[in-house]
Amino acid sequence: MGPAPDSPMCSAKGCRADAVWVLAWNNPKLHTPERRKTWLACEKHREHLSKFLGVRGFLKDVVRLEDWESHGTGSHAG
Ligand SMILES: [Zn+2]
Repeated sequence: MGPAPDSPMCSAKGCRADAVWVLAWNNPKLHTPERRKTWLACEKHREHLSKFLGVRGFLKDVVRLEDWESHGTGSHAG
């Protein structure tokens, strides 16, 4: 028996649901402009987390996890 596949979990506090969305964000006070931090979100928390980042002006992108993974990170602008 191998280890169970590690499915990515939602980043919301206390939530253990499988992540469906990737929220790409950047804090200009901490990060260079091209740097992307990512949070993961389930369907339920996507709006909550994106709003949290959005009001601070940090949110750059919201992408489905499957798309994020299939496109890779960073090498493709746009
Ligand atoms: Zn969640």
